[in-house]
Amino acid sequence: TIELDRAHLVHSVASWRGHEKAGVRLLSSAKGATVTDAEGRELLDGFAGLWCVNAGYGQEHIIEAATRQLRELPYATGYFGLGSEPAAQLAARLADHAPGDLNHVYFTLGGSDAVDSTVRFARYYWHSKDQPQRDQFISVMNGYHGSSTVGAGLTALPAFHAGFGVPLDWQHKISSHYAYRNPVGSDPAAIIAASVAELRAKIEAIGPERVAAFYVEPIQGSGGVLVPPAGWVAALHAVCKEHGILFVADEVITGFGRTGPMFACTEEGIVPDMMTTAKGLTSGYVPMGAVFLSQHVYDTIADGAGAAAVGHGQTYSAHPVSAAVGLAVLDLYEGGLLENGVKMGARLLAGLESLSDHPLVGEVRGRGMLAAVELVTDKANKTPLPAAAAPSSRIFDRAWQNGLVIRAFAQGVLGYAPPLCCTEAEIDQIVARTRLTLDQTLA
Ligand code: PMP
Repeated sequence: TIELDRAHLVHSVASWRGHEKAGVRLLSSAKGATVTDAEGRELLDGFAGLWCVNAGYGQEHIIEAATRQLRELPYATGYFGLGSEPAAQLAARLADHAPGDLNHVYFTLGGSDAVDSTVRFARYYWHSKDQPQRDQFISVMNGYHGSSTVGAGLTALPAFHAGFGVPLDWQHKISSHYAYRNPVGSDPAAIIAASVAELRAKIEAIGPERVAAFYVEPIQGSGGVLVPPAGWVAALHAVCKEHGILFVADEVITGFGRTGPMFACTEEGIVPDMMTTAKGLTSGYVPMGAVFLSQHVYDTIADGAGAAAVGHGQTYSAHPVSAAVGLAVLDLYEGGLLENGVKMGARLLAGLESLSDHPLVGEVRGRGMLAAVELVTDKANKTPLPAAAAPSSRIFDRAWQNGLVIRAFAQGVLGYAPPLCCTEAEIDQIVARTRLTLDQTLA
């Protein structure tokens, strides 16, 4: 099978280069936090697939719900007034969990089209308010908001939009809060003050009457798990509110217990105008994303629909099988999985912090079951581990040989996002196998 994969299956573009060298590995089965490869080797999945299998693999409750729904009604369109029971129930239960008045839910196929949808909704919102000139968007450096053309435009990791001419004339970015390498230093108050000043200046430069929305991940994921200082998100939210700018929280990674609570923005005490989610929504069992709309955004677009041509929808939006899975996954979160995630997240972070004295470890950071270890060759100067000595794929390979799947980002940042169902022993193994991998890299 691996030959068929190499010959015909197109993986994500980054893996085309050096594809042969990096090699392809096929997984054949999985249970809990353990995945088994085609050769029968068992590994701990320290990244929950792609930060998505929050509930863990092989959960019978989810499998039964999906099977039942496949038999009863495998498909119903969300178009022309049709719908399905699980989709309506899931929307209602999600609205219950969402902060504030994020009462309305639009289902997508994943995170990128959830982000795309919010860009459209923001434009429709301003059309409906007779302010169509509000067509400029601001996001944050190191942010990731998807692979679609619009999502890639909001994304501020050049690899995801350089090289294919994504239109960026509607797009503005402010600096990241990345504390470890921040030119303003690592003092939380200084970072918050700098970001507030930069966002204010950016809004002034564009013209406050031109800015439609601001996008932020409560914790930046693909940028290398960058945790902002407490109060940073709330401070930028306040700046947006001064100008009526829509505030969009991208919780595709941070949602559904990944950082502890159901949604990370609740830790900042804010209610976004829109919130995007995916991944943990269905725990990766089937594809689905969800956009949460606050009451005023929904009402404004609904009441003002005549002000602009409004059209948006997808064949697989609100898919009944995905919705049934979403409901079953919520049962698990409510039934103790979030609590377990909080406990295991504290253990994971404490365990990884115990690696801080390792010669290769520059910084350990994270919140809940979302963490990163940043590798350097010189702790004082924070010199990144050079690619030649340890390309990220080599570290990935070593970890793999040690029975651990983790994500190795560029510049030697190791990312962790284990399933929330992990046991203490599994968390301890993730830490132990990381230490072994680092020791081998040093040797
Ligand atoms: N937003 C964020 C914050 C993400 O992390 C991702 C995916 N990693 C996306 C959007 C895009 O989601 P998807 O890959 O499901 O399209």
